[in-house]
Amino acid sequence: MLIFDAHLDLAMNALEWNRDLKRSIDEIRQRETGMTDKPDRGKGTVCLSEMRRGGIGLCVATQIARIAHNAYSPVFGWRSQEQAWAQTQGQLAWYRAMEETGQMTQIKDAEGLKRHLRLWAETPTGSSSFSSSSSIEMSSGNDDDDENEDDWKQKLPIGYILNLEGADSIVTLKHLERSYEQGLRAVGPAHYGPGVYANGTDATGGFNAKGRELLKEMQRLGIILDVTHLCDDCFWEALDLFTGPMWASHQNCRALVPHNRQFSDEQIEALVERGAVIGAALDAWMLVPGWVRKETTPESAGLTLEKIVEHIDHVCQIAGSARHSGIGSDLDGAFGREQTPADLDTIADLARIPTLLKARGYSEEDVTLIAHGNFVRFLTEAWS
Ligand SMILES: [Zn+2]
Repeated sequence: MLIFDAHLDLAMNALEWNRDLKRSIDEIRQRETGMTDKPDRGKGTVCLSEMRRGGIGLCVATQIARIAHNAYSPVFGWRSQEQAWAQTQGQLAWYRAMEETGQMTQIKDAEGLKRHLRLWAETPTGSSSFSSSSSIEMSSGNDDDDENEDDWKQKLPIGYILNLEGADSIVTLKHLERSYEQGLRAVGPAHYGPGVYANGTDATGGFNAKGRELLKEMQRLGIILDVTHLCDDCFWEALDLFTGPMWASHQNCRALVPHNRQFSDEQIEALVERGAVIGAALDAWMLVPGWVRKETTPESAGLTLEKIVEHIDHVCQIAGSARHSGIGSDLDGAFGREQTPADLDTIADLARIPTLLKARGYSEEDVTLIAHGNFVRFLTEAWS
């Protein structure tokens, strides 16, 4: 089944973690043996071939660069907005390079989305519209085995919708317009702490004047508002200030894991009312309560993939249907196997979520909605 992953930081991994995502996951892990600069070295779970193996043919991929805020900087931040802009432009250059080799393809309108879905729905036999221009020139190491379904999938480009996580890099509103022209289709105004435009996770307070202007310009351009990471004050303000389409790309439930990074039942209800889709994330500390970094392990917490299904189910129970739930794994968001479910080896294991949902009694139709149908419907409507 096709899986839509609504949140991956692919370019950040390529450029800041120096990972060649065209390589196999084993090779990426091996090359990091002995490295200690980041906690997830040698434990990465995401590369392009593992995405294809799991049927993750479509994703929302980020540009991400924040500025260092004196009061709050738990993650690396640039000293100026111009530097952050340059960083996100470098990330875009990586996505473009992946497009040039046929590894990825940018999706920015309803027609492109439809075309891409058709490409992934083709069967290996009789795939006449499978043009060589969109196929990958296979790199070394591939022997001439009989073509099975996996080999066939491995030749397909992964579709990506460009999303900006945290808007600090938008120097002026002209930069937002330029980004839109480059294919940017969704923006989350804040990340962690206070930002240039809005307050994010662990911060408080509403949008400043610049933030309100940003929302207005997003609405004019038809950019989707990603409410993930907005602090509660900004979240509720955004519902009033922004009338365009909104989603929560990688977001879990506060009722299951009490922390302001997660959304309360009231927030989820409000999003359902606005037609949003909420992507459940696989970062361990957002799946189970009481996670202590560098202490708790997936095993000691009894953390398995079943936990993400509990968050998905919680959203469905509040919505009264399966029409607002999806997956936004965040699996390459600066963590690896040390901070993911114990029974997950790579992103290809997302393919097991449909089976877990069925075991809970979800119908085939509902499982399809959660796996990709809801986000596809959302985008089709947003871009109509
Ligand atoms: Zn995030």
